[in-house]
Amino acid sequence: MKYFFLTLAAITLLPTNHILAQVAINSAQPITRRILVNPIRTVKTDGTTATVWGTNRTVEFYIKQQVDRILSQSGVDVQFAPVIDFVSDFAYDGSPIDYTTAVRPQEDLLRIVNLVDIPTFSDREVINCFFVEIVPSFNQQVENATNGLAFVPGNGIAIHFGEDLLEFVAGRDALARTLAHEIAHNLGIAHSANRIENLMSPGGSTGRLTQPQINAILNNTPFAKPLAETTYNGWSNLFSLTEPETGDDDNDGFNNLLEYALGMDPTLDDVTRAPQPMNINNRALILRIDKQESAVEDGVNYQIQVSDDLNAWPQAGALDRNSSTIVDDNNEVAGVTTIRDQTQGFIRLAVTRTPPSTITSVAPINSIVQPSIDSLRSRISACGVGSCGHTIVQEEE
Ligand SMILES: [Zn+2]
Repeated sequence: MKYFFLTLAAITLLPTNHILAQVAINSAQPITRRILVNPIRTVKTDGTTATVWGTNRTVEFYIKQQVDRILSQSGVDVQFAPVIDFVSDFAYDGSPIDYTTAVRPQEDLLRIVNLVDIPTFSDREVINCFFVEIVPSFNQQVENATNGLAFVPGNGIAIHFGEDLLEFVAGRDALARTLAHEIAHNLGIAHSANRIENLMSPGGSTGRLTQPQINAILNNTPFAKPLAETTYNGWSNLFSLTEPETGDDDNDGFNNLLEYALGMDPTLDDVTRAPQPMNINNRALILRIDKQESAVEDGVNYQIQVSDDLNAWPQAGALDRNSSTIVDDNNEVAGVTTIRDQTQGFIRLAVTRTPPSTITSVAPINSIVQPSIDSLRSRISACGVGSCGHTIVQEEE
């Protein structure tokens, strides 16, 4: 068995401003696809557990965030389900056979994912990731090593997280890089050349993906779900609008973006459906708006603004004590203005939109079913054979 050593040159360290180290990647792409990683922690019948994220939430968040960052190069958003335990001596280390020094057969990956009663999802965009002690195609690795085996393409991974690697940043980066490497295999990407600066390079460094690799993921993978069309452009096409966001196809005085933000019909004069402020005895005006989920995801920003002269329109509560923004979250925004010193007051909703950088909706998961052998996932990465670069041994500095 050959080990490849991740050198410190692979790690971008920014110690001066105390920013955590990060795996070097190329620029993120707009998010167009999503996968959900289903982490399955294998547990022996004696209670011994495989290592997953450890118990430190900051470490867990860091590793997940690095994996998400690495795959963001390909426009794929990675989300993580909560860890599920699965008791199986066989899945954990190949028991009853001892693979302390002998190599565990590669076919054990297929056997693991097809075990009865495993908590896997059959949805293609869900990657079932088994955290094990001994990965098929390998013998037992030390606790400062991480290695894995994956279908190419497919939605199954067996991976070993050496628990010592959770303890230091370069170790966490090694874990993130290995998991991202295996996920990329599931998305259909094979190995690149040895020892180059590429995520898929055996013995290589960095988390970078090339444009051809990115194109292969975007064009070929059946294992990342294209995001539903919930954007302004999709909505505009739905209604066959001819004017832009600032236009008003139905000439009802509400421009198209405002109709989108309020869930109105941009082809009907439906201003009577628009939310109205509540007038409290001519002493206060309260305006409450239900946000449209798709609009929020698409980068639409809602702001309640107030004025006493119809010229200046600050956000409610921004400047004076006569108004306030009562609530502003992903579901609603509400503001109030009152009359004290001035003789009149006005309130309105302002809607703006910035191009979406991230989309936060989660693909629905409907059921947990027994997996069936899927021809698409029957091909196993050659990684485990002989001298694959999956194994990263990282020494603490
Ligand atoms: Zn590999």
